[in-house]
Amino acid sequence: MKINFLTLFPEMFQGVASSSIWKQAKDKGAAEYEVTDFRTYSDNKHNKVDDYPYGGGAGMVLRAQPLVDAVEDVRGASGGNARVVMLCPQGAPFSQEKAEELAKEEALVLVCGHYEGYDERIRSVVNDEISIGDYVLTGGELPAMIVADSVIRLLPGVLGNESSAQEESFADGLLEHPHYTRPADFRGMVVPDVLLSGNHAHIEQWRRKESLRRTWERRPDLLEAHEMDDEEREWLREFEDE
Ligand code: SAM
Repeated sequence: MKINFLTLFPEMFQGVASSSIWKQAKDKGAAEYEVTDFRTYSDNKHNKVDDYPYGGGAGMVLRAQPLVDAVEDVRGASGGNARVVMLCPQGAPFSQEKAEELAKEEALVLVCGHYEGYDERIRSVVNDEISIGDYVLTGGELPAMIVADSVIRLLPGVLGNESSAQEESFADGLLEHPHYTRPADFRGMVVPDVLLSGNHAHIEQWRRKESLRRTWERRPDLLEAHEMDDEEREWLREFEDE
């Protein structure tokens, strides 16, 4: 997958693109990153990318021309197939489901806004608008990194253990079960016996139950969309009685 970030702050991507899973994905040939300063597309003699809002008011607005030209150019360079995602607090809430959908694309263009936001007409070249949550950040760079990170780790071959992405929180609509590592007793807090038992069927059943418990305790809203089997319904009754 080719991911192109359109930004006014290209330097923000240096660390993240050369570390951890991003680096591994690049080294394995699963992902390629390009960071484009869309200021270089400005037709203004001072390379201005923002201007005052029509109608007055606080802040500056990103002009349509530099971003629209940049999107058309980088999309053209990917054979016209790239999916263009605008980061915006007014966009659809980001989710694991959306990450899985984006991971199927060959090329993504992530548009990072700034200032008061975008001239409305920039939306004419955008496929999706994504928000990473109900709060306002200074720019779209951190949201773009969040979206890209969640997508990159889903690309085939990127995670060492293929099954680990499938078992994580949200992959099946629930939060993941608790984890423990050595020692078996830390300050009197002991690892559940079943995890030391070596019985894989019992461990699997414990994990499913604790995943359900954790979701019930912390994110009961997720249970509304979860198709429950009889065993899970029984476990829920148990939790409620405890
Ligand atoms: N005036 C805009 C509004 O009220 O909707 C907010 C603009 S914000 C200061 C500047 C840029 O940061 C946005 O254009 C967007 O690219 C990015 N941004 C801020 N919060 C975001 C969020 N929750 N999700 C995605 N992008 C966000």
